[in-house]
Amino acid sequence: MQAENELKPCPFCGGKALVEERRNNDGVTKWTTYRVRCDSGCGAIVGAEETPEEAIAMWNRRKEEDHGNEERTR
Ligand SMILES: [Zn+2]
Repeated sequence: MQAENELKPCPFCGGKALVEERRNNDGVTKWTTYRVRCDSGCGAIVGAEETPEEAIAMWNRRKEEDHGNEERTR
């Protein structure tokens, strides 16, 4: 059984991936999003999700999909 939130290595360079939390609270807008990016500098980055689990799931899905640095928005 594989954990749903297991963070896989970068599909492009095999480097370590990490979850990045982005917070904004400037008194007007308040949000937190999570994304996963490659820590090896290849530029791979996915997600702007509300939970780390979603960002990780997106990252793991990306593995068998396309490549590139485009950001998916919704
Ligand atoms: Zn990489």
